[in-house]
Amino acid sequence: MIREIKRHIRTVEDFPKPGISFKDITPLLDDGPALHQAIDALSSVVEHLHYDRVVCAEARGFVFGTALAYSMKKGLILARKPNKLPGRTISAEYDLEYGTDALEAHLDSIPPGTRVLVADDLLATGGTARAMCQLVENAGGVVAGAAFMIELGYLEGRKLLEPYEVVSLINYK
Ligand code: IMP
Repeated sequence: MIREIKRHIRTVEDFPKPGISFKDITPLLDDGPALHQAIDALSSVVEHLHYDRVVCAEARGFVFGTALAYSMKKGLILARKPNKLPGRTISAEYDLEYGTDALEAHLDSIPPGTRVLVADDLLATGGTARAMCQLVENAGGVVAGAAFMIELGYLEGRKLLEPYEVVSLINYK
């Protein structure tokens, strides 16, 4: 089954810049049965975790985070780029290759003690997911784990997410 899902992930060399081997998930999104299978499979690898809400970052993270929250009947927290959310927000910065960026979430989406699953389409260096973990903890929530459709294991992003439990469906080692 994993092999079937993997068949729908396209590797594009030198995108978005030379030397980067980009995993393109759009062929998976194009195929209804494969997408359904992928969400079911992702749901089954997070079944043992205990959480109330799923947090995901724009833009590709919204796709899988929303599907996962729907499938598991959990609430959804949007982690957005700065100044997109209208309410009172909490923010966490993360490093980019050059400079920094930030993610924001509504403070009232993470009441103290809320258990939150971090979800994204792909784990690369771990910076984006770690920022989501910081958002949750800064608000007084508890990180229940982190789930990814794809993990670029060779970048060792899961080290940045220690001590949280990290699960992924497809690991490119
Ligand atoms: P990280 O912060 O380095 O772990 O990068 C992960 C974030 O960048 C995720 O939100 C992904 O959507 C995006 N990303 C990084 N590399 C890829 C890729 O090869 N394919 C698709 N998205 C990627």
